[in-house]
Amino acid sequence: MNASYIGRFAPSPTGPLHAGSLVAALASYLDAKVHGGQWLVRIEDVDEGRSVAGAADAALALLARLGMQWDGEVVWQSRRTDLYQAACARLGALVYPCGCNRREIADSRLALAADGSAIYPGTCRHGIAPGKLARSLRLRVPAAGEDAIGFIDRCAGPVDAQLARDAGDFILQRGDGYWAYQLAVVVDDAAQGITDVVRGADLLDSTPRQIYLQRLLQLPTPRYLHVPVLRNARGEKLSKQTGAEAVTAHDDAAVLRVLLAAAAALGLAPWLGAVDGLAAFWRAAVPAWACKLQAHQHAPVLHG
Ligand code: GLU
Repeated sequence: MNASYIGRFAPSPTGPLHAGSLVAALASYLDAKVHGGQWLVRIEDVDEGRSVAGAADAALALLARLGMQWDGEVVWQSRRTDLYQAACARLGALVYPCGCNRREIADSRLALAADGSAIYPGTCRHGIAPGKLARSLRLRVPAAGEDAIGFIDRCAGPVDAQLARDAGDFILQRGDGYWAYQLAVVVDDAAQGITDVVRGADLLDSTPRQIYLQRLLQLPTPRYLHVPVLRNARGEKLSKQTGAEAVTAHDDAAVLRVLLAAAAALGLAPWLGAVDGLAAFWRAAVPAWACKLQAHQHAPVLHG
């Protein structure tokens, strides 16, 4: 086992896994295997309000059925809130309470962030207005001009972000008390020793915020590879909100279909050839991913 590679798949159990989640799962699994590394699974149920009972167990059962066996124990974010609390405390004076609700932030008419959320106008930066109650905790980002964060994505290439312009002061603890994804993911990636994050390109815009948090908390920055996300016929990212169907794999033929579809979405079809069963799929898929990575070094984008 290559000790210098630890990857992970980190589903949010807000519903059953859909074809898009499986593309991220397969990419992270294959990348770990090609590098002879470990592949961990973390259940991102930090937002317990949105977690659906049984969804995490069903996701784990599906991964196992597809032949994607994880290393070590599954980690559950809902059991790790003390760690998020401690990390937030370490951020000290950069964290401030915010009394704004969604409507007030939307009404400020600042630009929208790439993920569609409104950029925070900084209303509570210097204290909450009288009569308002603290709802959430936010992290101060550096002023424009000092807020640049750059990294090299293994798929997208160099990414340059400006935190003040692209995200603004962002939430660490939400109004409902749950810790925010950005904080939990940074704490857990470091605690699990993750060296390589492979996930959907919808999270590319989150990465600069995560790198900022890593720097503040003096945690290492992993390598990142964001794979293209699957879209439906209307061009929307597959998700529970856009009505993506649950992946089902009741028999061997269905398992193979699911895996071949995910592999095709990653552009692996040319290297896979004809595979007639699960064992043959895995024998072909790992070298196919290696070929894809090599081809990508000569071409700018990992699309199929
Ligand atoms: N839990 C996130 C999701 O399901 C993925 C987080 C990550 O890979 O960083 O979209």
